Amino acid sequence: MPTVLTHSPRETEALGERLGREARAGEVYGLSGDLGAGKTAFVRGFVRGVGSPRRVHSPTFALLHEYPGGRCTVHHLDLYRLATPEEIRGAGLDEYLLAPEGITLAEWIERWSAAALDPGPLRHIRFRTVDEHRREITHDDPLP
Ligand code: ADP
Ligand code: MG
Repeated sequence: MPTVLTHSPRETEALGERLGREARAGEVYGLSGDLGAGKTAFVRGFVRGVGSPRRVHSPTFALLHEYPGGRCTVHHLDLYRLATPEEIRGAGLDEYLLAPEGITLAEWIERWSAAALDPGPLRHIRFRTVDEHRREITHDDPLP
């Protein structure tokens, strides 16, 4: 299980950018970890890596943001506000989590599993806050 330690938001973004450069349409990335662990920072770099000129905003108050303009569209989901399994099942997210057009990055993917839903094949990336500036990031696949 490859793990890296980043020491600043810029380093976390740079890691996201490297993965974004290699990402392909149809892939789903499930991001887990507490608030402030760096998930959105990672997505910011990732979207750049896919080639979109759009700036990524934290989607905590919106369920979905989309970033076109790169090699394919990036769908950025944040499931944080979906508290109950009913809300999660009712949110109509299947098209983003099961074989999406483009690439999906889903923050709080653990909410989806907690609703006993199968998100389909995904790459899981876990974020852990070590201290104020350090984040431990673990990926199912080798990190570039
Ligand atoms: P999440 O989406 O997981 O809630 P964000 O990416 O929105 O987290 O926020 C991460 C916060 O942590 C930001 O305020 C950022 O400045 C800070 N931070 C400090 N060190 C790091 C790091 N190494 N990587 C990412 N963010 C960091
Ligand atoms: Mg976030």
